[in-house]
Amino acid sequence: LVEISGVHKSYGDNEVLHNISLRIEPGQVVTLLGPSGSGKSTLLRAINHLETIDAGSITIDGDFIGYERRGERLFELREKEVLQRRTRVGMVFQNFNLFPHLTAIENIIEAPLGLKRVNRAQALEQARTLLQRVGLADRADHYPRQLSGGQQQRVAIARALALEPDVLLFDEPTSALDPELVGEVLSVIRGLAHGGTTLIIVTHEIGFASEIADHVVFLDAGNVIEQGPPEIVLRAPEQARTQEFLDWVI
Ligand code: ATP
Ligand code: MG
Repeated sequence: LVEISGVHKSYGDNEVLHNISLRIEPGQVVTLLGPSGSGKSTLLRAINHLETIDAGSITIDGDFIGYERRGERLFELREKEVLQRRTRVGMVFQNFNLFPHLTAIENIIEAPLGLKRVNRAQALEQARTLLQRVGLADRADHYPRQLSGGQQQRVAIARALALEPDVLLFDEPTSALDPELVGEVLSVIRGLAHGGTTLIIVTHEIGFASEIADHVVFLDAGNVIEQGPPEIVLRAPEQARTQEFLDWVI
């Protein structure tokens, strides 16, 4: 369970998240939509504690990633503890962000070897299973530069899954891909959704969002303008601002 409560975030005097509250239940698929600059990436990064927030709280099954509650007060955790807790949240970025000097399988085992109690043989075995799951069993020893964008993104998804996170965050996972490669990545994400993985996906693929989302959130200028089931938010939104956005992206 991801609980986002009363979150505020500013960069200088630019408030980019204004009082955001969301609850994401285990197994739920949430898509986050909104125009450029509305705060989607900032919110995702805050869930992972890659960004700090100025007010409010974000917890995963009751725990903060960056803090520990002692009595009434929050204390900042050390880097090592933050990394450990961050393993509960997987993240997939627009530009794949694979390590260029590591092969596909080495990219996948890197984090588990560092952060989980597994040996190399166990990590490799798990990585092979994951590569198979994303349809890349035959690409284990390829370097990122030897893979297409769609293949790189599928390795990135396998890498995120390797830490067995409670929730997986996707920040526009297909927007850097050539159109013919979008489908293979969406189909992997679709498989995760049907398999019961908790997902939060920032996407401009409205058709995809309406197909897989249980819940859609529309952000504009740091505010949640509207949220609800895709049948409402994407087909018959209550807010004019949401409709304007949909008219513009579709
Ligand atoms: P896009 O669809 O273009 O990816 P977004 O909804 O993901 O947009 P964010 O990247 O979250 O938007 O940015 C929200 C606002 O915060 C923008 O006004 C942006 O300029 C600002 N911002 C983001 N990161 C920083 C930063 N490190 N320093 C200052 N301002 C920032
Ligand atoms: Mg963004």
